[in-house]
Amino acid sequence: AGRIAFERVGFTYPNRTRPALADLSFTAEPGDVVVITGPSGAGKSTLAKLLLRFYEPTSGRILLDGTDIRDITGASLRENITLLQQEGLVFSGTARENIAYGRPGATLEEIVEAAKLADAHDFINRLPGKYDTTLGQRGRLLSGGQLQRIAIARALLRDAPVLVLDEPMTGLDAATAARVMEPLRRLMAGRTTILITHDLRHVPDTARTIVLEPVRRSNRIKLRHMTPVMS
Ligand code: ADP
Ligand code: ADP
Repeated sequence: AGRIAFERVGFTYPNRTRPALADLSFTAEPGDVVVITGPSGAGKSTLAKLLLRFYEPTSGRILLDGTDIRDITGASLRENITLLQQEGLVFSGTARENIAYGRPGATLEEIVEAAKLADAHDFINRLPGKYDTTLGQRGRLLSGGQLQRIAIARALLRDAPVLVLDEPMTGLDAATAARVMEPLRRLMAGRTTILITHDLRHVPDTARTIVLEPVRRSNRIKLRHMTPVMS
């Protein structure tokens, strides 16, 4: 399980004429890391949102194990595709509660196991949402790298076959990014990973890279340009 196929996927935001994504096709299998990169505005986040079904493609289709994701229930989609996002953490409660979020049936043993694999075990009882109020946002009691490892532990516990990583290294300094890499590798192992990043330094050697370019003109304009001139 976990085979993803984009088949000629296009998407135009309702209030726009220029597509955010046009005619994109690729497949990804379990064990694959497919890197989606490209300049700002190229459609990287749009691709992630389509895969998570926040929006439906305007054209083409996205398949999960051969089934159009339009035809999959929300519950099944969430079991199969996990988005790794630091901001996705619920900030009340301990790191342990955050790791188990959405997994009420998880045993303490399973939670601890995921936390260990993610290198998040040392701070399992701390409060990721807690700030030193005299310092505000900058006074967070856990670092960005620690928060990212909590997010990785949560994703490990969810154990979905498909992972969407949206800029997993953004905002982390080099040393912290290095510390996050190993847990991230453990998480990606055996899964289908769609890695969205503008930073190609931390990409595994075996990854395939898809470079998106911003779609320059509306389809209508493009088609007009492509009409053969008859003489
Ligand atoms: P919209 O999404 O409503 O088309 P944009 O800001 O994307 O708004 O584009 C405004 C207009 O400029 C559109 O008609 C679009 O087709 C055109 N356009 C956008 N990019 C380019 C470009 N690189 N070269 C020529 N025309 C462009
Ligand atoms: P990237 O993640 O590569 O920076 P995006 O997917 O955010 O690119 O954006 C692709 C295109 O879609 C850009 O032209 C952007 O302005 C446009 N876009 C993104 N989000 C919206 C939105 N909510 N409404 C309208 N246009 C959007």
